[in-house]
Amino acid sequence: MNKLLLTDLSELESLLEKVKKQGVDYIHKIAERPTSTTRNIPETRTLETKGLGAHETLKLFNKIFEPILVSSSGPRFWGYVIGGATPASIIGDWLATIYDQNPQAINGEGDLSANIEIETIKLLLDLFKLPKSYVGGFVTGATMSNFTCLAVARQWIGKFTGKDIAKEGLTEKIPILTATPHSSALKALALLGIGSNNIIKIKTIEGNREAISIDDLEAQIKKLNGQPFILIASAGTVNTVDFDDFSAIQKLKKQYNFWWHTDAAFGGFAACSNTYKHFLKDWEHADSITIDCHKWLNVPYESAVFLIKEVHSSLQTECFQNPSAAYLGNPMGNFNYLNFLPENSRRLKALPAWFTLMAYGKDGYTSIVENCIRLAKQFGCKIDQSADFKLLAPVRLNTIIFNLKHTENQDKLTVFLSHLNRTGKVFMTPTFYKNQYGIRAAFVNWRTTDDDVELVFKEMNQIIRLI
Ligand SMILES: *Cc1c(COP(=O)(O)O)cnc(C)c1O
Repeated sequence: MNKLLLTDLSELESLLEKVKKQGVDYIHKIAERPTSTTRNIPETRTLETKGLGAHETLKLFNKIFEPILVSSSGPRFWGYVIGGATPASIIGDWLATIYDQNPQAINGEGDLSANIEIETIKLLLDLFKLPKSYVGGFVTGATMSNFTCLAVARQWIGKFTGKDIAKEGLTEKIPILTATPHSSALKALALLGIGSNNIIKIKTIEGNREAISIDDLEAQIKKLNGQPFILIASAGTVNTVDFDDFSAIQKLKKQYNFWWHTDAAFGGFAACSNTYKHFLKDWEHADSITIDCHKWLNVPYESAVFLIKEVHSSLQTECFQNPSAAYLGNPMGNFNYLNFLPENSRRLKALPAWFTLMAYGKDGYTSIVENCIRLAKQFGCKIDQSADFKLLAPVRLNTIIFNLKHTENQDKLTVFLSHLNRTGKVFMTPTFYKNQYGIRAAFVNWRTTDDDVELVFKEMNQIIRLI
């Protein structure tokens, strides 16, 4: 064995001790670490012939990379929809690395860690109060979950013209109906050969809403003259966290022939709260659902699940089977994740989710979700009552969009946001909503408190006076 490998193996304990201490320190002080940096990474390194060994490499990392890492998993990183990592999820993540399994088959011999994944999916179904008629798996993010679900939807469409699209490729356009899709769903359509431009855009409900207009949806469906189509519904749009009317969609599904996919990347977590679960009423009738775990479940990146009704499992295997790899066995035989999702080899992504779900249970997630919503509404209230800022939409769940009160000047808004982010105390992102530029803040982190909201609002009021 290479000498450095041998040394590192014998010093593994002291190496891991160092990393543990550093990690604990980072996590305890995360709220003091800046949310942004203007530092750059010093010039790139070249590959050493001999290598440095792990101790020296850790030193090098700490010198050049560690200082530029921002507190993106901290309590005041409100840009995008980020989340963080609960203590139990970190343990699960470490163990996933240490045991380094590759979850595939659930029966037989060899690596059977896929059973942990199956169990985790069941825990998630329970958390979301969804029926056991869904089969799911872990992928890298909601983008890949949308991709997986829409791939099966595409295969389902093919059946009506006797086509196996996975084998034969696309020959005809597939009608995609949607109102306010997340950009990643469009990206998935691009990857699937359906084309991101090939959507039939349905109107949204009038007023300050992003949810689909059921009347317009039905009118567009009628124009298709019975042709099967795919509906991409939203459970939580990114600007105003709006939800489509799933009861109405369920009614349409009884009359018309379509695949119903719901992107519930973060909005699905409303199911954890008795106060907010009404937004998801009847969502359990969808053929497929996307849920992101590295957002509101607060597990480390990369973690999302697809949930697809078990009745579609043979279509799913048609999409993801490995056509001619004899050593992988019969794709239609025993269940094997290898033939059920885009990747072949994967890490045991389910383990961080399994840990956090077992550790904090339903109550833990109700409290994370309700706390974030409460803080979002509190922040929204402050903005609504302020002299300098105004809300662009009422706060429905956990995101806020706002801009400046007395000016339409986009430059001023940009200057304000860049000053705010440069304080390093908070991070927000720009947005565009109903023809207005704005700033967006999303509450998804398990550690955010009332004090954080207070602190950020104070900073905002100071900056608006300075610019
Ligand atoms: C974040 C998000 C996605 C994309 O998720 P990734 O995890 O970044 O791939 C898709 N849909 C919605 C509604 C989202 O909020």
